[in-house]
Amino acid sequence: MKAVRFHEFGNADVLKIEEIEDPKPGPGEVTIAIKASGLNHLDVDVREGISRFPVSLPHSLGIEVAGDIIALGEGVEGWEVGDRVNPYVMAPCERCRYCRTGRESICLEPGFISFSTGGGYAEQVAVKAGQLIKIPDSVSYEEAAATQVAFGTAWHMLFTRGRLSAGESVLVNAVGSGIGSAAVQLASHHGAFVLGNASSQDKLDRAAELGLDVGINRLEEDIAARVMEATDDRGVDLVFEHVGGKMFQDSLDSLSKDGRLVTCGGHAGEVVDFDIIPFFRTQKSVIGSFVYTREEVDRCYALAARGDIKALVHAVFPLDQVADAMRMMERREQFGKIVLTT
Ligand SMILES: [Zn+2]
Repeated sequence: MKAVRFHEFGNADVLKIEEIEDPKPGPGEVTIAIKASGLNHLDVDVREGISRFPVSLPHSLGIEVAGDIIALGEGVEGWEVGDRVNPYVMAPCERCRYCRTGRESICLEPGFISFSTGGGYAEQVAVKAGQLIKIPDSVSYEEAAATQVAFGTAWHMLFTRGRLSAGESVLVNAVGSGIGSAAVQLASHHGAFVLGNASSQDKLDRAAELGLDVGINRLEEDIAARVMEATDDRGVDLVFEHVGGKMFQDSLDSLSKDGRLVTCGGHAGEVVDFDIIPFFRTQKSVIGSFVYTREEVDRCYALAARGDIKALVHAVFPLDQVADAMRMMERREQFGKIVLTT
């Protein structure tokens, strides 16, 4: 089969399309013929060698795949060849204290697609049957490859970690990104008042179609000042933060008293100053969030099957144009997700 691999860290030029052996399903595993694979910013960090995850070379990129089961390993029950599936990005151990208490994303010994298996930028991958999530018939492979990470992450941040309620206000940072646009849809569907920022009016206009109530152009406007203006000087109940750097401080400044900031990323600056005094005097909370659970993905698919949310596929590239696809993502021009197809 064909797989995209790299033998040294670097820019998109290090990617090679190579012919490697087809994966065979071990006991309890299935092999999936990949139809579509979603790109994620993590892939850039892994390729550049700055992900803070251990990467052994050559490495095959890609964590988010959708396809058909083509082979069942020994002992697999409940799944058939031909089933349309989207494997959970993680392979939880199912034994540790976190797995046993419904918190599988912080499993002590998890596998991860592309780290403990082959990568998703390929024609096939073998995964544990326990990782499989069924794709509803009404969701295409391209949409499925654009659903799990964006909507699952947004769900976990907004509802499980951030405890967003209907009627509350939320500020979504970078509404044009995969998880930002997913968060706007989920928060709006949930009945929240949704504010958001982006670097262009075009992205804000598109987010408005998804349910954004107040758009803030971060290059032209002061985010916290605009948030205060739109909330009667109160600030928002929740900030959905995944940018880092200056945006982290702007986010804290946008919170109401007793407000919550949930974060899952920091590309724009991973280490920030933090003023402790106003933080505790206004009783704010900063909450970390990592990945999501399979149940949360199922809930997102149920909404997608009903047409309540829609995965946003900005562009589709064939596998052999992976370098162009990654460059597009790195320019951050897209609205939604970029997908590779085999
Ligand atoms: Zn575990």
